[in-house]
Amino acid sequence: RSLEQVLKDGIRDIPDYPQAGVIFKDITPLLADNSGFAQVVEALAATGTDDDGRPVVDKVVGIEARGFILAAPVALALGAGFVPVRKKGKLPAATYEESYALEYGEATIEVHQDAFAPGDRVLIIDDVLATGGTIEACLRLIRRFEAEVHGTTVLLELSFLPGRERLSGEQLTALVTV
Ligand code: 5GP
Repeated sequence: RSLEQVLKDGIRDIPDYPQAGVIFKDITPLLADNSGFAQVVEALAATGTDDDGRPVVDKVVGIEARGFILAAPVALALGAGFVPVRKKGKLPAATYEESYALEYGEATIEVHQDAFAPGDRVLIIDDVLATGGTIEACLRLIRRFEAEVHGTTVLLELSFLPGRERLSGEQLTALVTV
């Protein structure tokens, strides 16, 4: 199967979730498809390599919660470490935090203060790019360190929302755009 077909087969629309009028992209069928999941992890990991396929990142960041599921196997595939970025109050040691606006209210994400070493090259992974607020806040978190963001890769980009414009200037890859 082509990657395109795998993504088509594995991502379904759930209308009116989490609220009326929203069509939620559900990736759980893809995660349950062993060969499809493997193909997607390989494609995500390829965005952390050079033209000869050699890994070029030291850390892979996963954003809670679906980002964890994708970023951890990508980290292993690249021989890199995994770093969780979590919702406020979940990480046990000293953290940095960044807040961002939601449609109603605000969200805060955190990372451990010792998550990156100086010079670390970092790949950020998440499942869906919607408004871009989450990834923008994640980029602000990583800028607190002397680390270098290699890029951000998502499974799915929703092109009817301004996520890409918001992250302009950043290396952003989506395996599929709808
Ligand atoms: P943003 O901050 O770009 O508006 O929203 C992106 C975050 O919300 C991601 O962490 C993503 O997991 C979640 N998200 C927003 N919309 C969807 C969706 O339709 N499907 C999935 N799976 N996640 C979504």
